[in-house]
Amino acid sequence: MTALVILGAGFGGLELSARLAEDLVDEVEVTLIDRSDSFVFGFAKLDVMFGHRSPDDVRLYYRDVAKPNVQFRQETVRSIDPQARQVVTDRATYDADILVVALGADLDPYATPGLVEGGHEFYSPEGAERIAELLPSFEAGVAVIGVLGPVFKCPPAPNEAALMLHDHLTARGVRDAVTIHLINPLESPIPVSEETSAAIVSLLAERGIEHWPSAHVQRLDPAAKVAHLADGRSLPYDLFLGVPVHRAPAVVVDAGLTEDGWIPVDPATFATRFPGVYAVGDVTSAPVPRAGTIAEGEAATLADVLVATLKGGSQPPPYSGATICYIETGGGTVAKVDVDFLSGARPTALFTAPSAEVAEEKRRFGEVRARRWFGG
Ligand SMILES: Cc1cc2nc3c(=O)[nH]c(=O)nc-3n(C[C@H](O)[C@H](O)[C@H](O)COP(=O)(O)OP(=O)(O)OC[C@H]3O[C@@H](n4cnc5c(N)ncnc54)[C@H](O)[C@@H]3O)c2cc1C
Repeated sequence: MTALVILGAGFGGLELSARLAEDLVDEVEVTLIDRSDSFVFGFAKLDVMFGHRSPDDVRLYYRDVAKPNVQFRQETVRSIDPQARQVVTDRATYDADILVVALGADLDPYATPGLVEGGHEFYSPEGAERIAELLPSFEAGVAVIGVLGPVFKCPPAPNEAALMLHDHLTARGVRDAVTIHLINPLESPIPVSEETSAAIVSLLAERGIEHWPSAHVQRLDPAAKVAHLADGRSLPYDLFLGVPVHRAPAVVVDAGLTEDGWIPVDPATFATRFPGVYAVGDVTSAPVPRAGTIAEGEAATLADVLVATLKGGSQPPPYSGATICYIETGGGTVAKVDVDFLSGARPTALFTAPSAEVAEEKRRFGEVRARRWFGG
């Protein structure tokens, strides 16, 4: 039996475990390690933030993972020796024949001066819960949704948050008393798709949301309640909802796995420069955006690579970077964009306009994954 250790049970780690349970049940013994007791879909944080679902309702507990060759351990990874493929957690030491790092991107609210004292973040489950508590008493003033770092997961999410905030305030009858600003370092909402970006820009404009593209909030002055931008502009606010700076988890950096902040991988196989050590998802510098569907696709390709390696047979084609991105557009509708980042000379993107049908498709997307990742 091959001892395979997966660090991180997010989109990447869960998809890889499910595939290894299907295709390598007699060949590999999988240890899946995560510090949390449960998984929360990224998009569910928006539902929690706006009070559509309760925090408990969106948690999928790892104790329910029912796969014959997968053992889940709720432990925190303290150190990784990629040369020896040895991992030390707060409870045990693991020696792996194959080690997969799927630890995602950490959020660093302290990297932005004033954010912790003078604002809120909505990218963690805890942050979304805190905002859900305070939003009902926000009745008037300036609300700013600000992206605080150049690299962040799910590029549509800040736009979705702005559109959903508009709906939330409208439903409460206080929208006219609030100005909403969206400050985003990207030059357009979804740079890979002009059509999708144009549709989102129209939705923002129709709702009177002030869109600041190519702009970056550098620091907050919590006493004066002013957001200061890198280009010298500033904006007074009453409520600041931020997307914090992202970085690779410190344990990965300390292990010497990163270059320029993230883990470089062979984009065809997700091998790192250490033999027997692979990495997928947000923690890598693969030439694709950071998104759950991307992490899942990378994990599926890595599963194919491992099947070919352990069972024999030809190596699979390289990861195509083809994925679907759903975008909440408010009013219960969802748009989507089918993107193919890596197959051709240039990325391609096919936009589907917002509808209730796509919203239902997105609901099924979550349901199918919950069943595949957690079911027996
Ligand atoms: C508000 C929001 C909306 C989003 N919407 C979408 C969407 O609609 N579609 C989409 O595709 N993506 C979306 N995303 C992005 C998506 O959630 C991430 O890109 C995706 O989860 C990345 O998968 P991953 O496996 O690389 O990392 P993660 O899913 O982040 O998993 C990493 C895991 O590692 C664990 N971990 C980290 N450090 C340690 C440690 N030291 N010890 C033990 N465990 C550790 C964490 O607990 C975590 O469970 C959204 C994200 C947010 C925040």
